Amino acid sequence: MNNSLTAFPPANILVVDDTPNNLRFLSNTLKQQGYKVRGVVDGKMALIVAKTALPDIILLDIKMPNMDGYEVCEHLKAAPETREIPVIFLSALNQAADKVKAFAVGGVDYIGKPFQVEEVLARVKNQLNLLAARSQIVRLNEELELRVKERTSQLEESNRKLQQEVLERQHAQQKLLFMAWHDHLTGLANRALFMTRLNQSLARVKRESNYQFAMLFLDLNRFRVINNSLGHLMGDELLVAIAKRLGPCVKSSHLLARLGGDEFTILLEEIDNLDEAIALAERIQKKLDISFKIAGQYEVFINASIGIVLANDTYDKPEQILRDADTAMYWAKDSDRRTCYQVFDQTMHAKALTRLQVETDLRLAIENQGLMLYYQPIVSLKTGKLAGFEALVRWRHPTRGVISPGHFIPVAEETGLIVPMGLWVLREACRQLREWQRQRLGADDTLTLSVNLSVKQFSQPQLVETVDRILAETELDGSHLKLEITESAIVDNAEIAIAILEQLKARQVQLSIDDFGTGYSSLSYLQQFPVDTLKIDRAFVSRIGRTDEDLKILRAIVTLAHSLGMRAIAEGIETPQQLAHLQKLGCEFGQGYFFARPLDIESAKELIAAQPCWYSNGLQRLGHCDL
Ligand code: C2E
Ligand code: MG
Ligand code: MG
Repeated sequence: MNNSLTAFPPANILVVDDTPNNLRFLSNTLKQQGYKVRGVVDGKMALIVAKTALPDIILLDIKMPNMDGYEVCEHLKAAPETREIPVIFLSALNQAADKVKAFAVGGVDYIGKPFQVEEVLARVKNQLNLLAARSQIVRLNEELELRVKERTSQLEESNRKLQQEVLERQHAQQKLLFMAWHDHLTGLANRALFMTRLNQSLARVKRESNYQFAMLFLDLNRFRVINNSLGHLMGDELLVAIAKRLGPCVKSSHLLARLGGDEFTILLEEIDNLDEAIALAERIQKKLDISFKIAGQYEVFINASIGIVLANDTYDKPEQILRDADTAMYWAKDSDRRTCYQVFDQTMHAKALTRLQVETDLRLAIENQGLMLYYQPIVSLKTGKLAGFEALVRWRHPTRGVISPGHFIPVAEETGLIVPMGLWVLREACRQLREWQRQRLGADDTLTLSVNLSVKQFSQPQLVETVDRILAETELDGSHLKLEITESAIVDNAEIAIAILEQLKARQVQLSIDDFGTGYSSLSYLQQFPVDTLKIDRAFVSRIGRTDEDLKILRAIVTLAHSLGMRAIAEGIETPQQLAHLQKLGCEFGQGYFFARPLDIESAKELIAAQPCWYSNGLQRLGHCDL
């Protein structure tokens, strides 16, 4: 049987023995077992042969001349390349001390002489098995190490990926969090963040007696005009530029936020007094005095109205502070003062509440017939006869009595209630005139009815349609209706205005510019508009008789009207002297307390029936007369 390990190439054995018989015997015996055997007879040779081709195992005689087996073994163990080769000592000495030394110098086994073949083979085989096992262990270890390395790098890779994912997730989360608390356009804090901080500050003001904070509410003036004229993209660009300019005005401990649209807010924490907030408002105003360059080409001037609130522990909710800052901001917007800011005080709140009450009551009045019309005569200054009426709205308030339009028209304009209100006035006025016409009260049917149209009504896209519908419903001829508009209604949007005015003209509706002289008076525009009459504002009429200058202005207006092919009506004639002057200037019509105050329906009806003539010749006032 072959004793070398079949799975491996035959083991290589070096036999070292100075006794030739022993050497031959061992070599032959081992060769017979299939081992490759080299034999040498002294230690020196053994070292050379061993290094030339490394044997798997060495059988080494101890007792040899020159260099004994121990020394050979020590050399072998000292050299790195031969250190691991197992050495089995061969010796006749067979004493315990020799064996101990044999193991001490690095031998792995010991065979005593004379040799027992079985023992030699068994010990050789044993060592070879050990060798094989060791190398298998080494291989397995290497494999294991390799696998561990592979797994480690796989783990490292997945760990890296995991960390990357965690980072990405954290990043996404931070981004989401940022988005939830910030305005996407300007990157400033948004309403949610601002209200949260305001809430925290309010809680602190209640806890700490010497802690104070304030808030500023900024609203840009005329932003809508810029947005509409330059487009929303430019509007956005302007908002970003404003945010950038506001940023450096605000301390890092304060919070600047964009509440939405063109509204910005600032929370000023830990301030000593109100002056700090006012100083900030003034700083902002100065900053906004410098124009903005938008899209590299448009130079835009914009300023802001600022409301300021110094918070105190009487506030329960942050919304109340915001509300008061907003109220103060509106006061700043409305005030004519040069400063752009207002500090909130309680009277503002009370007034805002009253305004709200007016709005609510007015809404109800429009729905429940709480409005009525008065009619003020318009007189031909040539004939002294009644030419028509101006319909003037009144509010019959359940508790406050009759309220004149000056008190509620501004609220109606602001809230948009002017549109349904104006619709009611137009319908009611047309219906009334048509009713008087049907009643054949004695006057000829040349009477016209003037109805005021607010700017908001005039900019309603369905205005012409509405007029058509009302004329059709009331069966009034369009030529009896005169619409009074102010210059601002048409100058702001000239092209559209011309188109609307022309459509109205096509329906024979007459057009009059009310309160002329107080607004734009842009002559170049004026001549493009198909307007019939200029209604001279009361302010010019009331100054008649004071200075020559005033008279000159009045004359200029009448001349202007005539040169544009229009007729002139003078408002607010109160004295015969005023009337005389206007007549002299060739003003065609007049209206005012001199003739009559605005009349209720019954009085107006009686007046029509009486066919009045205020004078027959010259300037003499006759009162009603039959002609
Ligand atoms: P307006 O259109 O200029 O109307 C003339 C105003 O002057 C009326 O005031 C009239 O009562 C007043 N007035 C007339 N003659 C004299 C006078 O000799 N002396 C003085 N001191 N005042 C005189 P009222 O009725 O208070 O109306 C005020 C303004 O309210 C109107 O000015 C008009 O702009 C607006 N308004 C009135 N009714 C309506 C309406 O139905 N719709 C709209 N949009 N505005 C209306
Ligand atoms: Mg008017
Ligand atoms: Mg007027």
